[in-house]
Amino acid sequence: MSAERRIIPIEPAGSPGKSAAFEYISTRKDELIGWARKFSIFPYPFVTACCAMEFMAVSSTPYDTDRFGAALPRFSPRQSDLLMVVGTVTHKQAPILLKVWEQMCEPKWVMAFGVCATSGGFYQNYAAVPGIDRILPVDVYIPGCPPRPEMVIDGIMQLQDKIARQKHVIVTKDF
Ligand code: SF4
Repeated sequence: MSAERRIIPIEPAGSPGKSAAFEYISTRKDELIGWARKFSIFPYPFVTACCAMEFMAVSSTPYDTDRFGAALPRFSPRQSDLLMVVGTVTHKQAPILLKVWEQMCEPKWVMAFGVCATSGGFYQNYAAVPGIDRILPVDVYIPGCPPRPEMVIDGIMQLQDKIARQKHVIVTKDF
């Protein structure tokens, strides 16, 4: 009796029901969109206190945030995708900050600019919010009081890395 050869089907790589080609194209699509988005950041500066001077410095010619595609601040939440919270946030301002964030379209990111936005800084009192991550999902924290422009640029670059690594759903849930 001759031995019968059995053919074992090999499942394509990727999740069940999706071909390897689909997974490959989907991954490349995420890379392409991530690359485009990380170089087209439109910041909305929510500026409340003395860190404003440092924000002006980092926007000036010597530091040239245009290199990162992040030079043009938008003063409309609907045209922005990066909420830069610059300075101390009080409990009275918190609902306004939250409303600005809610008006921004997806995808959107949040930067805590300086130690006051990060943790309340030295304002350990009843008026100051002890860090904006109590009310918003923060993507990147910039330490310092005030932070040096180089630190802000480092934060922008870290955010760019994060954007590049994200999944970017744009048209349908499958592509
Ligand atoms: S971190 Fe320092 S410079 Fe920035 S808002 Fe707070 S006190 Fe002012």
